Amino acid sequence: MHPLLLALQLLQPPDAIYLNGRIWTGSPDRPSAGALAGPDTKVEDLQNRRVVPGFIDAHWHLPTARRADLTDARSPQVIVSRLKAWAAGLPPGAWIAGRGWTPSDFPQNAPHKRYLDEAFPNQPVLLTDRDGHQALANSVALRLAGVTAATADPPRGIIEREAGGVPTGLLKESASGLVSRLVPPPSAADIARAVDAESRSAASFGITMVHEASRREPSGLVHEALMTAARADTLRMRWLVSVPFDPGAPPARVARYAALSREMNGPWLRFGIAKGALDGTVDAKTAAMLAPYSNSDDAGRPFWTAAQLAAGVTRYDKAGLQVELHAIGDRAIRMALDAFAAARRTNGVRDSRHRVEHVEVPDPMDIGRFKQLGVIPSTQAIFATPDVTTLTNYAPLLGPTRAARSNNFRQFDDTGVIQAFGSDYPVFPMDPIRGIYTAVTRMTPEGTPKGGWYPAGRITVEMALMHYTRHAAYAGFMEREVGTLTPGYWADFVVLSEDLLAVPAEEILKRVRVERTVVGGRTVYGR
Ligand SMILES: [Zn+2]
Repeated sequence: MHPLLLALQLLQPPDAIYLNGRIWTGSPDRPSAGALAGPDTKVEDLQNRRVVPGFIDAHWHLPTARRADLTDARSPQVIVSRLKAWAAGLPPGAWIAGRGWTPSDFPQNAPHKRYLDEAFPNQPVLLTDRDGHQALANSVALRLAGVTAATADPPRGIIEREAGGVPTGLLKESASGLVSRLVPPPSAADIARAVDAESRSAASFGITMVHEASRREPSGLVHEALMTAARADTLRMRWLVSVPFDPGAPPARVARYAALSREMNGPWLRFGIAKGALDGTVDAKTAAMLAPYSNSDDAGRPFWTAAQLAAGVTRYDKAGLQVELHAIGDRAIRMALDAFAAARRTNGVRDSRHRVEHVEVPDPMDIGRFKQLGVIPSTQAIFATPDVTTLTNYAPLLGPTRAARSNNFRQFDDTGVIQAFGSDYPVFPMDPIRGIYTAVTRMTPEGTPKGGWYPAGRITVEMALMHYTRHAAYAGFMEREVGTLTPGYWADFVVLSEDLLAVPAEEILKRVRVERTVVGGRTVYGR
């Protein structure tokens, strides 16, 4: 270990010097160091702990609605009992909202309103799935929304039906909006509370920056809350916040987004990225595939045509905006790459750093195109968790050939491309240590299956760290400020309880804890 003093300058002169850390800098020129300096020069002894750059979650959502947590419910009975507990004390007739179910929580992987109707005969219920791409409504909610056998599917949405066209309660993609628009929205106070609580939680996981992927209009309450907090200098982590990508957006709107990205460009809050969704998810069979799902003639459908998408991407690119496209199925991923290639042909090659989000089931022919086109695969390490849903719904829908290359982070690393890791929180827990564990072992937190699920896709701890730090910083145009521990950069770093780079991979989750999180020299979490 180098007894080297790294001057991480915030203001001059620094407030603190951190000595005796085992520092993984993430920087190729200086991979390790022994001390960090920041200003006022308080000396802190890191007691030979492992120090890494602050984690950057490149795909994260701020949850603002109050909803019952249905994660890992595993049965309709447990879902109902959690909803009953959550709704206790609400006025009669109030909306019951929940999130986090998966198809495997229901018999035959088939969610249906019948599981909710008996328990809630007079209260509307709307439950969003784990991925946020489908929702289950009870009969009261459908009635209030006027959704009947006669209701047509909305554009980019499916009302699932049974005999006679009667809705089952399952609403896919935009169809959930028919009901969700009736649920009372969160207030400004709810949002301020969410920003505070979620930032505290992120700090406890060592997260120092998030790329917020919810594509809200900038005029809304969330952006207002963030701008107010940024001006008051009360943000606890850095935020890169997306605006909507819509291929039909009028030029004035695109120009407004570009202006916002020039105005709000501080170290704690930035704009400049536009997010669009090109398809849905595998679990909902709405991811757009080149070939049908197993035992089905359904292959999902992209939400836009290739021509619409290419024209839209070209327009945003020309305005100087970075575009991130949610694309999960191989057909959607190819369309996204084609659109980025079209923008390059029209606007010329520039440092645009467009991204494909999730990139779960790429066709092998398209893997090398990311590097060629300078497009970033923005993947989610925890998506490779071989849990019940993955093994009994996701993998069977894809079949073995496609399942084997799904969420395979190694296939991107092998091309030398920059790959950014995120969690897609609240779809999955935001904990980067858990993400690193999953990418490195491809096992569940319980350690199954032994040796990992499709182990050829496993990567090293060092690469997983790189995707959560330097590469995620690059994906947000901030690699000259954060993501590595380099003299002159912001002092964003995490002190770990044990050496992540030395403990056996299967023991990472049990042994490695975040002890302290520092952002811009401020300690935002300490255990
Ligand atoms: Zn997302």
